[in-house]
Amino acid sequence: MGLVVQKFGGSSVCNAQRLFAVADIITKKYKEDNDVVVVVSAQGKTTDELIKKAEAINKCGSRREMDVLLSVGEQISVALLALAIQKLGFPAVSLLGWQAGFKTDSNYGCAKIKKLPANRIIQEIKKNNIAVVAGFQGINKLCDITTFERGGSDISAVALAVVVGADACQIYTDVDGVYDANPKIFPNASKFDEISYDDMLNLSLSGAKVLNYQSVEMAKKYKVKLEVLSSFKNVPGTMIT
Ligand code: ADP
Ligand code: ASP
Ligand code: MG
Repeated sequence: MGLVVQKFGGSSVCNAQRLFAVADIITKKYKEDNDVVVVVSAQGKTTDELIKKAEAINKCGSRREMDVLLSVGEQISVALLALAIQKLGFPAVSLLGWQAGFKTDSNYGCAKIKKLPANRIIQEIKKNNIAVVAGFQGINKLCDITTFERGGSDISAVALAVVVGADACQIYTDVDGVYDANPKIFPNASKFDEISYDDMLNLSLSGAKVLNYQSVEMAKKYKVKLEVLSSFKNVPGTMIT
């Protein structure tokens, strides 16, 4: 029996069909006698669309209001994914960032995690629930909603893996691993079966958004077993070691 954190990015959950495909991946892991904590991003291009909506009203609005707005994307995803898992007959509970324990500083739009007490997640695990956590968000000391930088659901996933002591943190996305160049632009790019934390940090730093830079830094610091996998095809991914 293990404890696994699985994270699904926006393209992995962009419609009902994809939500059920992801629910299948999650419940397969759960049926194999694992505790599963899930982190999910906003569906498809939701975050970009919310930014456009805000800018149509006020291009220089406060970052605080932007965070209230942008957190909605992940709120929709957690509820829909929990409903999909329940529809398959498994127990799931959706949690917003603040419910899952993400306490951050007050840098709206690029907040950093200050504390992450794991008690609520542990409670759900003990009840055999699959916790479905909204990525990319937390609350500050005023109880205002904050968001991390773009791509920040990867940070949520690795941070949760650290605090619950997960055996693995699986980052499911729309490509089947980490390549030496963006495989969507360079079809001849080669996939790594394994890549070191430092080489991954360099790739992230040079713009490979497949893994957020801060998430790799944290994984390196706490020796989290990180894996990048496709939610579209069942093939081996890339281990970050
Ligand atoms: P998600 O929504 O799952 O978080 P992202 O769009 O943030 O997904 O990251 C996945 C994308 O990263 C892929 O679609 C791919 O185009 C891009 N990418 C850029 N560089 C790389 C790379 N070196 N290896 C793999 N994917 C890469
Ligand atoms: N939804 C956020 C973004 O688009 C966070 C994430 O996808 O990881 O940046
Ligand atoms: Mg991403």
